[in-house]
Amino acid sequence: MAAITIKNVDKTYPDGYHAVKDVSLDIADGEFMILVGPSGCGKSTLLRMIVGLEDITSGDLLIGGERMNQKAPRDRNLSMVFQNYALYPHLSVFENIAFPLRLKHTPDAEVHERVKAAADTLELHEHLDRKPSQLSGGQRQRVAMGRAIVRQADAFLFDEPLSNLDAKLRGQMRTEILRMQRRLGTTTVYVTHDQTEAMTLGDRVAVLRKGELQQVASPRELYEKP
Ligand code: ADP
Ligand code: ADP
Repeated sequence: MAAITIKNVDKTYPDGYHAVKDVSLDIADGEFMILVGPSGCGKSTLLRMIVGLEDITSGDLLIGGERMNQKAPRDRNLSMVFQNYALYPHLSVFENIAFPLRLKHTPDAEVHERVKAAADTLELHEHLDRKPSQLSGGQRQRVAMGRAIVRQADAFLFDEPLSNLDAKLRGQMRTEILRMQRRLGTTTVYVTHDQTEAMTLGDRVAVLRKGELQQVASPRELYEKP
């Protein structure tokens, strides 16, 4: 767990496109922060800069008080869940979940213990030997979440994780994500287009428009005003 501080962060892509403009945002330890805004407003760019998959052009990123600007993704101890699951098709469910632990050469006994615990939380224990292609969309998304929670990350970053699921599954997964986040108390940044997700999951909602931060408010202030 860790607070995330985004201080005057700017992003200009190599082709000159100014995608994020002087964004400052303090995300508290354990907070569930929602990022919303029209397509192309810079949500993914901001998320990718936090994870380290995209360089910050100027400004500062602090996680748990430590400056992260120059750190490689693997040194940031964050977990990201993508919209398209990003599972490895040739690996079993077990090995997909275990992947971050394998990268760190975690001892086998501990890998088994932690994958089993994650699988229990997400009700995946019956599917550990299967391949992603043998799973439903909802089960695949659970595997992606299992990979995110299998190690104690300082924060979770979600990029529209439920947008490929049907309405019923979306509802179930919403409940699942909220339960998981509250139980683990892990700081979370969650990009979505879905107002229901923003309202039910978010402690606060940050609104981006054309690369600028327009507003930060509680879901109630944002959506329930007369
Ligand atoms: P969102 O996630 O809100 O839809 P993005 O962060 O993906 O927005 O993109 C913000 C803007 O930056 C868009 O106009 C997009 O076209 C542009 N953009 C994204 N990636 C690149 C890139 N690699 N090079 C140039 N422009 C990019
Ligand atoms: P690989 O395909 O082996 O993961 P990458 O270049 O994609 O290689 O990633 C390099 C490092 O960045 C990995 O060791 C991983 O820890 C980290 N990383 C990659 N993607 C993510 C992500 N979505 N969330 C958190 N860390 C990531």
